[in-house]
Amino acid sequence: MSHEIRRNPLTESWIIVSGKRITRPWRSGKCPFCPGGEETSGDWKVLALPNKFPALSPDAPIIEEDKRLFYRFQAIGECEVIIESPQHEGDFPDFPITQVSLYIDLLAERTRILESKPYVKCVVPFKNKGSIIGVSLTHPHSQIYALPFIPPRIMKEIECIQKYRREYNRNLFEDILKNEQEEGARIIYENKLFIFFLPFFAMWPYEIHIYPKINVKSLTELDREEKLMLADIIRAAVAMYEEMFGEDCAYMMVIHQSPVGEYHDYRLHIEFYSPHISRERIKYAAGIEWGAWVFTYDGIPEERARELKQAAREALKKIDHLGEVYIN
Ligand SMILES: [Zn+2]
Ligand SMILES: [Zn+2]
Repeated sequence: MSHEIRRNPLTESWIIVSGKRITRPWRSGKCPFCPGGEETSGDWKVLALPNKFPALSPDAPIIEEDKRLFYRFQAIGECEVIIESPQHEGDFPDFPITQVSLYIDLLAERTRILESKPYVKCVVPFKNKGSIIGVSLTHPHSQIYALPFIPPRIMKEIECIQKYRREYNRNLFEDILKNEQEEGARIIYENKLFIFFLPFFAMWPYEIHIYPKINVKSLTELDREEKLMLADIIRAAVAMYEEMFGEDCAYMMVIHQSPVGEYHDYRLHIEFYSPHISRERIKYAAGIEWGAWVFTYDGIPEERARELKQAAREALKKIDHLGEVYIN
């Protein structure tokens, strides 16, 4: 059965081909992530488990074939599931900040361990949520992919920050943040160490990015206070989405951190893509988005940011928080 990574020579993107995953059973009945199960026994607050149907695995069959154009190699790497809480329902705002901080702690710890494997080049933690985008398992969970290559999107960011450094001798992430702060209109929330905004260049209607105000490249560099502040801002962001789109709102949360190696100008940041246009309607990445990689943004980012700010204000009345809605 084929289990390999193929390269598209036209775009230099990678495709993980996993013949096994097609037989993945549709989960039904008992929740596999609730405490007391076969893999979830013992006393825990957050838990990392190997993905039972991994797209990548350390013992994938060895192949390396370079027919110049059709390049394929071993689907080596790791896929893990992170259970965010023993509680079967809910999302980050339903848990105390300290619980979400334990979650960050576990992501950092797993990143450190996975990065130490010789075949891992980049660790990408992410979360998909919302029945509207097909996430059926409601027990709060995230995933980690430890990839044997640098994913194209992160590679592109690295190329751009390196080019910016050569041209202006400055850090691109710091300057984006500076520009957002100068304009102010799209910033929604900040605490002592992190800030989130609907970026100038948002693709999704209510896309937001969390940036650090400090120089950190990876989760592994965060100290205790920094983890707590990151937990706080993630909770605030999700609480805001829930206020706007309801508790079962759909979003993807992707943590971008430096690949293994020396990427001095890289900064840890988190990108949230919510496909919602409204509570019931979602935007699809369709013809022009997929076929040309060109997003159309229906609306005005600054107005949408204002809506989000209002939602954040309402949401924060209901949860404890360490920062404030941004005032400009
Ligand atoms: Zn459960
Ligand atoms: Zn990014």
